[in-house]
Amino acid sequence: MVNDYFDLLNENSKKRNSVIELSNKFPNDIQCPSSINNLNNKKTNCVQLYKPIYIARHSKIVNDKFSYDEGDEFELINKLNEDYFHVIHLRTNTQCTLHRAYIYLDLETPLRLGSDDRGVIQRCLLQYNIPGAYLIRRSKNESNAFVLSISQISNQRNAEDWHYLICINPKTRCFYFAQESKLDRILFTSFRKLIHHEKVLDVIPLTKRIPFQIEFEEDLWHIPIRNLTLEYRIGIGEFGEVWRALWQNGKRKIPVAVKKLHRLNENQSTINNYMPEIEILKTLRNNYIVTLYGVAQDFQTNEILLITELMENGDLKNWLELCQDVPNEKTIISYAYDICRGMTYLEQQSHVHRDLACRNLLLGVGKRTVKIADFGLSTFINKNDYTQHRETYSQRLPIRWTAPEVLHDQKFYSIKSDVWSFGIVLIEIWLKGDDPYPEEKEFSAIRSLVQNGYIHKKPLKCSDRFYNRLILPCLSYKPNQRPNFQSLVEILHQWNKEKIEHERLNYSNVEFLS
Ligand code: ATP
Repeated sequence: MVNDYFDLLNENSKKRNSVIELSNKFPNDIQCPSSINNLNNKKTNCVQLYKPIYIARHSKIVNDKFSYDEGDEFELINKLNEDYFHVIHLRTNTQCTLHRAYIYLDLETPLRLGSDDRGVIQRCLLQYNIPGAYLIRRSKNESNAFVLSISQISNQRNAEDWHYLICINPKTRCFYFAQESKLDRILFTSFRKLIHHEKVLDVIPLTKRIPFQIEFEEDLWHIPIRNLTLEYRIGIGEFGEVWRALWQNGKRKIPVAVKKLHRLNENQSTINNYMPEIEILKTLRNNYIVTLYGVAQDFQTNEILLITELMENGDLKNWLELCQDVPNEKTIISYAYDICRGMTYLEQQSHVHRDLACRNLLLGVGKRTVKIADFGLSTFINKNDYTQHRETYSQRLPIRWTAPEVLHDQKFYSIKSDVWSFGIVLIEIWLKGDDPYPEEKEFSAIRSLVQNGYIHKKPLKCSDRFYNRLILPCLSYKPNQRPNFQSLVEILHQWNKEKIEHERLNYSNVEFLS
């Protein structure tokens, strides 16, 4: 008889002492499976990431279409009876029923399938707070794909986590790293083999699997104010001040940005205006979007504090203004690529940013990465019609970045009006942070120019090729003639590859000549 842990728990979970008894025998973080029903429950103080994973004892041909190998992993869907388990074969995404004798429970699995919410996963990684802590979860955006998430918290750097997409090769039915060029040729038959592979460990500094259950002292998104030390003010925005701060998270102090919102009592409507941004930020997780770590409340001042990832080099506009000269084309393409990848994610999530401009793009460590911030104007859109859900921002319309159809009527906000704004962002970058339409001081003049089909002229330092290939298509008058962000990502990727190849050829030419 296969006497596995899951059975033991089922039998014993009614008895009060059983969990204590079992916890001596099995890892502490595995709890009673009754909590499996409670997965993703963000309101409680504990996040369950546990789902039973079973391993095949032997290879087996089940039928013409489906077979599995020894060591393959299965996720339990449910137990049909004492002997038969309904499972999903992870390497092929095939559901089947297996006798318990053919499989055994895997307590060493790196899979944490209890949540695919990247925001929740990141909070768990922050809470567990060990550099290199990792887990493998299902991807929320890519069907039939997984993500290796690793926490790279260190005292020197910001609290960051990294996510590596793992897909299934349709021919070999093996796992591979889809976006990590150093690893994309290696195939893995199981997740356990993947995390032990020496080449993987060379590239990704994995240390410890995070537990099956993460406890939070407070609500998942709540960060106690006592754990924050404000250092100095970075800037002021419409809704409040932004401070650099240290977040005491367990034994570590993590540098963060704290956005203080106006006082609750004095300006209730401002807080209400801000709530949608908080809710949106909780759900958005992407490497090119500034991450929300949590929310704190100062009960003495009645302020709400948003704790986000600190972007060491501030906003792109400010940085460009301080630069001696316009950045080179390679850097601009790399920034444009980051922005488009972040915007593609928003596009996939049916979000419209509505305020894409250099002031809302933040520069990370080494000024190598740009991330999108400030969802103050962001809102969900209905994919089928262009219904606008809120119309409270008419006075705040950023005219210089606004597409002609939105200048005409705000109900025409769409991801394609963000593409227009992106075209203006590119102009802003080539103007070294200067306002677009520099000769026009009056908003009404800009509005009428744009509505009548005027297109911003090519900035002096911008090449014809860049202007014609990237900027002009984004500034097409008709929204449906503008590219989407996904196709911009492809154009930029291709362009980057051409540039690298060009440099390589030039370089080898020099070598040859010398
Ligand atoms: P608005 O409130 O209208 O959105 P804004 O974008 O200027 O205007 P904030 O988002 O409050 O206002 O930001 C104020 C300043 O703080 C910005 O100039 C930016 O440089 C800085 N800042 C904001 N968030 C961060 C962050 N996460 N890391 C580093 N600096 C930041």
